[in-house]
Amino acid sequence: MRLRATSSALVRCGLAASVVVGCATSPASPPTHVVAPADLVWDYQVTASRGGLDGLAVDVRFAPMTEGTLHVDDDAAPFVRDVAYASGAEWVSVPNRGSLWAVPCAAGCRVRYRYDLRQAAAKLDDPETAIGAGDVLVAPPATWLLGPTAGGGRFRLHMTIDRPWRFASAMLPPPGAPTDTFEAPTESLESSSFAAFGAFSTETIDRGPMRANVVVGPGLLPLSSADVAHWVATAVDAIAAYYGRAFVDRVLVIVLPGEPGSPTRGETLGDGGPAVLVRAARGLTVAALKEDWVVTHELLHVSLPSLGREHAWLGEGIATYVEPIVRARAGLVGPEVYWRELVEGLPQGLPEAGDQGLERTSAWGRTYWGGALFCFVADVTIRQQTGNRRSFDDALRGIVAGGADVEAHWTVEHFIEVADGATGTHVLADLHRTLALAPGSVDLTGMLQRLGVQVQAGRVTFDDRAPLAPIRRAMTDPPRGPSPASSAPSRGVSRAVRE
Ligand SMILES: [Zn+2]
Repeated sequence: MRLRATSSALVRCGLAASVVVGCATSPASPPTHVVAPADLVWDYQVTASRGGLDGLAVDVRFAPMTEGTLHVDDDAAPFVRDVAYASGAEWVSVPNRGSLWAVPCAAGCRVRYRYDLRQAAAKLDDPETAIGAGDVLVAPPATWLLGPTAGGGRFRLHMTIDRPWRFASAMLPPPGAPTDTFEAPTESLESSSFAAFGAFSTETIDRGPMRANVVVGPGLLPLSSADVAHWVATAVDAIAAYYGRAFVDRVLVIVLPGEPGSPTRGETLGDGGPAVLVRAARGLTVAALKEDWVVTHELLHVSLPSLGREHAWLGEGIATYVEPIVRARAGLVGPEVYWRELVEGLPQGLPEAGDQGLERTSAWGRTYWGGALFCFVADVTIRQQTGNRRSFDDALRGIVAGGADVEAHWTVEHFIEVADGATGTHVLADLHRTLALAPGSVDLTGMLQRLGVQVQAGRVTFDDRAPLAPIRRAMTDPPRGPSPASSAPSRGVSRAVRE
């Protein structure tokens, strides 16, 4: 969280020896690199010793700023060391006030500090700030880059890392720059997506307009790096087939081993570039990958605009509802698996006494399965209103056709407007009013009966005489329309560079 400083507390080199850092060293110019854009305001040179395991040394030039206050994520602040600014030939130490450092920067300034990334990963152990697995450390730049409290313009990051260690980021190199230089808007830094440091292998999945860079951490045996890449490629191709098109330009997917005994978990971040962190269940086998839906779920998040945490029910509901459809259409699971998961899961999304609607609850069941229930009802209703010619697929295809992915920030109202426009109905707007802004009620048992879905003793059977049986069949049928150019053979995985 970015805060404003209430006072400055600078300590001059030589006046307080105990806090002086590097007074004997004259600030040397950082290495020059590619031409900077006119709106470049923060220029970071980062050196990762032993792949970041021995910490990061950061040397940054800031354009003139009136505030002169630097900050970092509150949780990340305890691992910032030795902040100093250049004053003539000297370095002047800057003490912190919590997660803030005040520097005189009205005419621009140069600042250096160190960041103890390994300690941050060990202590925080949180995907959103810093986490580690063996010699691989994962942390968004917001954790280790001090930045001014006010932004505007772009920032650039040049990473120096000694082999065999590597750095992987979701940020893009600017045109003509080497692959160790990255650039992004300053406003993306605060919630920037994942970056990885350390001894990992990389794979690239190239699908024409889409590229997925896969970082494969250690400790994933018996899976090979190629197995992990194939897992990701299968999900990429299944989702591209669902949409009938490429759904993102590029994405970084970092796969690390999870905690012993934990199922596979995933997180997705978008600012500065889409990235997914997957912590795979220990001992996952090639055979078990086919059953593991987490990568598909996360890549669906990548495909859609960010709606804000307070509207998580819609993003999580879509990913929960559509993931088994995507996998059923791709032949990865049978229709009975899709329906069994719905029949078992959807009741967890029904409102309980006192519920005020999906927009006003953050309970787990309502967020994931309540959101999925919204999508399920929307899908069936759109199909009923359009004689099965339009569906929830078309609603999402309309969103993705506009070029939005997780890097874009949309309001729920705009999302619904675009989605309804793609189906030529008002189904989502109506359901938002009745199920999200109010507790609403859904006759789930009756809907399943009309669709001809029966579950007895955990076994799913279908009744083709049911009135909505054609709709039920269409929900898991292969997609209509042309094959996506991006659905090239899913085994086209090659060795490559960064996530
Ligand atoms: Zn999710």
